[in-house]
Amino acid sequence: MLSLNRLMLKQERRRRWRIQARNQNSTEVPKEKDLLCQEEDHSEGDKISSELISLKIPFWLEGLSLLCVFNCNMLQVIDSKAPNLHTFKFFGNPPHLTLGESSQVKSLNFRLSNNGSSITYAITKLPSTVPTVETLRVTSFNERVNTPVAADKFLNLKCLQIHLAGYGAALPPSYDYLSLVSFLDASPALETFILSVDQDKMKHDSVFGNASPMRQILGHKHDRLRKVHINGFCSAKSMVELTCHILENATSLESLIVNTIYDGFTGDDVHRCFLQKRSHCMPVPRCMILEAHKALRAVSSFIVGRVSPTIKLNVWEPCSRCHAI
Ligand SMILES: [Zn+2]
Repeated sequence: MLSLNRLMLKQERRRRWRIQARNQNSTEVPKEKDLLCQEEDHSEGDKISSELISLKIPFWLEGLSLLCVFNCNMLQVIDSKAPNLHTFKFFGNPPHLTLGESSQVKSLNFRLSNNGSSITYAITKLPSTVPTVETLRVTSFNERVNTPVAADKFLNLKCLQIHLAGYGAALPPSYDYLSLVSFLDASPALETFILSVDQDKMKHDSVFGNASPMRQILGHKHDRLRKVHINGFCSAKSMVELTCHILENATSLESLIVNTIYDGFTGDDVHRCFLQKRSHCMPVPRCMILEAHKALRAVSSFIVGRVSPTIKLNVWEPCSRCHAI
C-alpha cells in the first residue's frame, strides 16, 4: 500500500503539506513548523504516523489546506478545527472524524481498510461530518454490503467518484450495483458520477441467462446529473439495471461513457494506447477481455435502446491491439 500512497503523493507536486506526528500517541498540533513536513519526506512520515491514536488540529492553523492521513491503523480520532482545510485524503481504519462547524472541506478522498463496507460508511457517516464536500472519491475494497438508504444528504456534492476494487479477484457477487442509487439519491446537487469497477474476474449474475425481470426503482429523479462514466462496465445484471436506472431518471443527462475495460482510476479519462500515445494499454486478464465482449453485447441489448437523442453515448471496446484474444 505504500507504493499506492507514493503514487498519490507524487501527483501532488505543488507545494503542499502533510501532517505527521512524532512518536506520539496523541497529537495536538502546537506549532506549524514542528509538525508539518513537505511531502518529499513521505516515506518517513508513513512509518512515524502509524503510531498515532488521536490527531487534533487547532483552529489557528490557518495555513493548512491539505491533510493526508495514510496507514494510521491505530488512529481512532481526527479532530480538525483548521479553518481553511480544503482537501482531506484518508486511508485507514474508520476513525471518529470531527471537522468542526466551520469546516470548509470541499474535496474528500476516502479509502477505508479492507472491511467490505466502505460505501456504507461513506453514505451514513460523511454527509453530517463533511457537509460542505463538493468532490468525493470513495474507494472500497471487496465491498459486500449493499449501499443503504441514507438519513442525511450531501447537499453540496457535485462530483462523486466510487471505486470498487476486487483486490486481484472478483468483486463479491452479493454486492448489488443497483443499490448505488441510494448514493445518487443522497446527492441532490450531483452533476458528475464516475463509477470504476476493478476486478480480475466477474462472478455476478450476468444479465444474460437470468430470467428474472429487470428491477426498477421508481420515484427517484436525479435532475442535476449531467455526466456519467462507468469504467469497468460488465454484464452483471445489477450493473445493467443501474445503468438503465440512470438513463431513465437522470433527466438532464448529457453524456454517458461506458468503458468495458477497467483501465485505471484516474478520473474521467479513458486510457487506451492510441489515445495516450503509449506503447501498450493497461494489461487485462483474458477472462476480463472475454467479459468485456459480453458487456458490449449487454450494451447493445439493454442500453442503446434507452439512450435518448439528447445524450451522447460513448462505448469503449477493448483495444484491438493490446486486448486481442
Ligand atoms: Zn492498446
